[in-house]
Amino acid sequence: MTAALEVHGLRKRFGGVRAVDDVGFTLAIGEMLALIGPNGAGKSTCFNMLTGQVRPDTGAIRLFGRDIAGLPPRRIWRLGVGRTFQVTATFGSMTVAENVQVALMSHHRRLRWPWPRADRLDAGPARDLLALVGMADQAERGCGLLAYGDLKRLELAIALANDPRVLLMDEPTAGMAPRERAALMDLTARIVAERGLSVLFTEHDMDVVFGHADRVLVLDRGRLVAEGTPDEVRADARVRAVYLGD
Ligand code: ADP
Ligand code: MG
Repeated sequence: MTAALEVHGLRKRFGGVRAVDDVGFTLAIGEMLALIGPNGAGKSTCFNMLTGQVRPDTGAIRLFGRDIAGLPPRRIWRLGVGRTFQVTATFGSMTVAENVQVALMSHHRRLRWPWPRADRLDAGPARDLLALVGMADQAERGCGLLAYGDLKRLELAIALANDPRVLLMDEPTAGMAPRERAALMDLTARIVAERGLSVLFTEHDMDVVFGHADRVLVLDRGRLVAEGTPDEVRADARVRAVYLGD
């Protein structure tokens, strides 16, 4: 069975720093995989290599069997790797629905479909995406007025507009209240199951990690030090030492 992502021997140095040092893992189809580790462990550098923002020194990244390591971000995005951003990247002066329309437009452009004139625009697909993330009733609101948790759900809808096969989420619940965090991750898990999507996410909140990840990867100073189910990782003495502070 082909994996969504297969990573082998991934390395990246910045000057004397081995930011990512011989990292390898598999993201199975339909899986929610967490990447954790202390600040500076190399999580963002890993993400940025998967999206093409950073070029790996060496290593292979296979997306459904095809090596994408070193391809430019636009190509990787076109091949179906989507990402949500830690910093909210929505346009504050536009409505919720308009934000999703813009994202859908760029998806159409990617597929080279003609985009209809504004007066013939079908509001259906944007409405469907907003319904999927539970925001149908907020379609006409200005984004500047949204609660933080709703903004995060809108970001998810925007990422999904590109119909990704793999979704990378860098600290999706940062800045949210605990109950909102669980709700966003439950929603993500439901969408993953519905769409056969595969998700790799970084996260600081251990309740979110252990409650919502199928498996967990632990990075420390660029190296993978543990990998397993939440229970396995939680019980790992090395993880407790380097990460949980025991
Ligand atoms: P994390 O996301 O786990 O906090 P990062 O991937 O951001 O870790 O950083 C890993 C290491 O690489 C750190 O030592 C960081 O200072 C260094 N680093 C990251 N990006 C750059 C860069 N563009 N230039 C130089 N050093 C970098
Ligand atoms: Mg980071």
